[in-house]
Amino acid sequence: MRASQVSAFQTLKMSLGPSSSHTHGPILIGNRFRQTVEHMDNCPDFDRLEVVIYWSLARTGKGHMTDNAILAGLSGLSPVDDDLEIINNTLPRVQQTKQLEFAGRTLEFHVDRDLVWAPDEQLPEHENGLALRLYRGEEMILERRFYSIGGGMIKEEGEGEHVSDRMEPHPYQYAAEWVMIARREGVPLSSIVKRNTCAVDGIDRETCNARMMRIWQVMKTCIERGLNPTEPILPGLLKVKRRAPRLHLAASHPSATDIFGQNDLGRLATAFAYAVSEENAASGRVVTAPTNGGAGVVPGVLRACQLHREFSDSAVVNALFTAAGIGGLIQANASISGSEVGCQGEVGAACSMAAAAVAQLYGGDIYMVEYAAEIAMEHSLGLECTPMQGYVQIPCIERNGIYAQKALASAQHAMTLQQHRISLDLVIRKMYENGKHMDSDFKETSRAGFGPIEPDLNF
Ligand code: SF4
Repeated sequence: MRASQVSAFQTLKMSLGPSSSHTHGPILIGNRFRQTVEHMDNCPDFDRLEVVIYWSLARTGKGHMTDNAILAGLSGLSPVDDDLEIINNTLPRVQQTKQLEFAGRTLEFHVDRDLVWAPDEQLPEHENGLALRLYRGEEMILERRFYSIGGGMIKEEGEGEHVSDRMEPHPYQYAAEWVMIARREGVPLSSIVKRNTCAVDGIDRETCNARMMRIWQVMKTCIERGLNPTEPILPGLLKVKRRAPRLHLAASHPSATDIFGQNDLGRLATAFAYAVSEENAASGRVVTAPTNGGAGVVPGVLRACQLHREFSDSAVVNALFTAAGIGGLIQANASISGSEVGCQGEVGAACSMAAAAVAQLYGGDIYMVEYAAEIAMEHSLGLECTPMQGYVQIPCIERNGIYAQKALASAQHAMTLQQHRISLDLVIRKMYENGKHMDSDFKETSRAGFGPIEPDLNF
């Protein structure tokens, strides 16, 4: 896959929390299997369905609500179009009724028997594997294996990555080529991404802009919801308190003893990034940027910048195309899957995307934009993925807040110094190599990190 073939809306798309790979992807997989069975010419006669969840999906699946997600998909629900409450209630509903509506029939489904967790087994093509099996009596009559490969993208075993068959006007694989094309065309980097996205998705410019404006509105709504939550404690065993409202209050109305000052850009960005990440942890509506785990950084930073300098929504939307272009480079040349390369590919990638967007928003030229993305990615190298007990809460939420500040610092640094020796392409390559050498304990398996702690309501 070329980087220029990655649509901006593949990187920035509506999702539901808490995880693009462990929640969004499994819903799509369930749905795809259901459709496959429904459209079979000679649909086999079956009376039982079994789901086997492998490796990283199994190790962190409970905290990521993977069991609920796969059952929602098998029931025909969509992570984008359907009501979140209905989706999030699928597992309790199936547990209670012991029935699953699947492919036009009502199957007896016992969660303890028919949902199998295989945390020590790995399927060959990716760390996030799922097998779906149909039985007639004791005989298995159909098995399909799928993978959730990061950012909400899925594939079936043996299948190549999905690539649009429409040719984009400005093909490129690397950042250096993207920069060269933008320079030759005399346009910002965002324009190249926009033109390619129009071609790859088969849409006109107005539709493309309107879609990104919708993405931006969803991001802003998510921030507002996160700042005004109805439940003060996040779901799950960790009993983590939502902290975005307090951070926002401190950033907006500092007390006399506060040393940081009012409406500080970094503090606002942190509060907003927390707001989105807490919504994500509460299984709310978010936008992948490029994943759910790192979803707080890009909107957090851009919303803070918008309020700080009164940038128009259109200016922010253009910056989002640049952010998406950086995400596309990382997807095509490395990975955005925490279970494949650690958190480098999630919050690290988000930080790089946000830094580039900020540099563009504040008037940086194409070289500064590339430099900002490079700094942010370089100083995210080695970032491990160790979600406590499988919940996208610790260290994930705080990490989004801290990396929002890092994105701002990276953009500021790039726009001040303007010259660098390490290219973004080199850093992305190193990130991938690091990820491949990283011990699996640090790649979304919850086998390393802080370990279990006692719930602490004052956290
Ligand atoms: S540590 Fe990073 S990659 Fe891992 S679950 Fe949290 S946000 Fe995602």
